[in-house]
Amino acid sequence: MADDRFHVYDTTLRDGAQQEGLNLTVADKLAIARQLDGLGVGFIEGGWPGANPKDTEFFRRAQTELDLKHAQLAAFGATRRAGVKAADDPLVAALRESGAPVVTLVAKSHDRHVELALRTTLQENLAMIRDTVSHLRAEGQRVFLDAEHFFDGYASNPAYALEVLRTAAEAGASVIALCDTNGGMLPDELADVVHAAASTGARVGIHCHDDTGCAVANTLAAVKAGATHVQGCANGYGERSGNANLFTVVANLQLKKGFDLVPAQSLREMTRIAHAITEVTNVTPNSHQPYVGTSAFAHKAGLHASAIKIDPNLYQHIDPAQVGNDMRMLVSDMAGRASVELKGKELGYDLSSDQSRQLVERVKELESRGHTFEAADASFELLLRDTVAGERRRHFSVESWRVIVERRPSGEVASEATVKLHAKGERIVATGEGNGPVNALDKAVRLALEKLYPELAGVELIDFKVRILEGTHGTDAITRVLITSSDATADWSTVGVAENIVEASWQALEQAVTYGLLRAGYSA
Ligand SMILES: [Zn+2]
Repeated sequence: MADDRFHVYDTTLRDGAQQEGLNLTVADKLAIARQLDGLGVGFIEGGWPGANPKDTEFFRRAQTELDLKHAQLAAFGATRRAGVKAADDPLVAALRESGAPVVTLVAKSHDRHVELALRTTLQENLAMIRDTVSHLRAEGQRVFLDAEHFFDGYASNPAYALEVLRTAAEAGASVIALCDTNGGMLPDELADVVHAAASTGARVGIHCHDDTGCAVANTLAAVKAGATHVQGCANGYGERSGNANLFTVVANLQLKKGFDLVPAQSLREMTRIAHAITEVTNVTPNSHQPYVGTSAFAHKAGLHASAIKIDPNLYQHIDPAQVGNDMRMLVSDMAGRASVELKGKELGYDLSSDQSRQLVERVKELESRGHTFEAADASFELLLRDTVAGERRRHFSVESWRVIVERRPSGEVASEATVKLHAKGERIVATGEGNGPVNALDKAVRLALEKLYPELAGVELIDFKVRILEGTHGTDAITRVLITSSDATADWSTVGVAENIVEASWQALEQAVTYGLLRAGYSA
């Protein structure tokens, strides 16, 4: 189990799951919990048993299906209702029976919330906290308290907010997490309040939302002011603007502040884990996410390229390998030979000066026609193999393709695509149906190739972007399509450019499949 002196507490499965568009099944929650345990967090908040049947089931299945190495599960719930004993409250019973070693109780610490939302007296609220904490402690569970709206409560009535904290600590709560529930705090004011709370002698934690864009900064400020327990969510998930991004918090504290929070080896898995969690949540990964985003260490070469070639550390704040990420060079029409050579090196090719000159010319020529390689790494790698190494691998060749878009009498619009391909000496004809022409083509290509290349079943088209580029000097506008594909471990993007949108999509799709096959280890 993790060191108890400083807690990394994840609340992805409870607070993070409040994010708009995010819906987790019990199996999803179990899968995410395994990933978080792999990272080495100390606590995983699984949900609210008793209040939500899915969460009750999560805790039941966790007992047999989760074999946690680092983390302990925490059950989230409220203090008892007003006017009943904690021992007699069925929601408190659900927490007791969850099997979780830790219970995190949410309690009101803002006087107006007690009166308006809870509709009870300030004294009864304190009694509810005292009674519920001591009851669960006596039953053998460890108790943390989430002091809801603590910062707004402190602004409204500091004496009462601190009284809540003292009451919980005296009743046996081992941590009082101060929650910036509305997410409106800024680091300096927040630090003053955390300092005042920690001065009571109670152990304090911090729970921040990102409504001011300061959730991570606020968390770090709270740690500086005395908090020894940080809460957050994987990839910054959460309602509104999200919760503090736990990955950023952990990387900052461990790599910049010398905290020993998770094993160094696990930190090197963080990029993979962040990505694996997006596969479960089905939320498009944020490429600009600090530390773990695909763009987090991507450089738009140009002026910097020659210096990066000499010493990459001059242009990045940490060695990306510490969090399992990579430096990437972006190839653009602003880039010269140095960046193309650097990019080649990154891909494992030592380019001669002739080869790199030739490649720069191809890139410039294609970019003048509307291609972009900055956002289409995989297309660039295929181009490099094609023009320089003279080894563009053909896993299949295309005889023809055709798409029909039909508006049926019912009003439904459907597409049907037929592809005719040659692969491994066979001629394959396959038909796919989809809600749009690209979807239908994608299905037809897979159907055609999956028998010969079963790994394609694990490749998914996850994003599709279309941009119309202005025509110049009387020429027609052209269409640029960017497709992002993904397998279990990475994403890659390909580009297609044509006057016809379906042709542009096809180019990007064909490259996406070719690149997927290269990744799967098919060299020819
Ligand atoms: Zn919250």
